[in-house]
Amino acid sequence: MLNENWMALIGKMGRIRCKTHGASGIAHVSVDIAAGMKAGGRKLDVLRYDIDCLEDGSASISYFVSRSVAKEFEMPTPDLELFDSKFENKYAAVFDRLTTVCAKCFAEHLKKTN
Ligand SMILES: [Zn+2]
Repeated sequence: MLNENWMALIGKMGRIRCKTHGASGIAHVSVDIAAGMKAGGRKLDVLRYDIDCLEDGSASISYFVSRSVAKEFEMPTPDLELFDSKFENKYAAVFDRLTTVCAKCFAEHLKKTN
């Protein structure tokens, strides 16, 4: 059964064409993280939210949110737990502040030290 959240997720899934990496997977990050990557600037403090949207106990999607955006929306600090679709409903407003970037570029960005 596909609910609205699921449909929105599917719309966001897929591939991206990256200038550096060519066809690549995508990562879901908050817009300030994406801006920081583009500017090649200082790495933000990134929180990772794993969502079990298939409800099979696996993380079917991950969102990477800067600590400041998480604070703004009063999101909990994740501690490796898996969140369910209730989490997505509760924090739906945050998802409007997410964008997609090249997963490989994002991985390289995360490896940078401040
Ligand atoms: Zn890339």
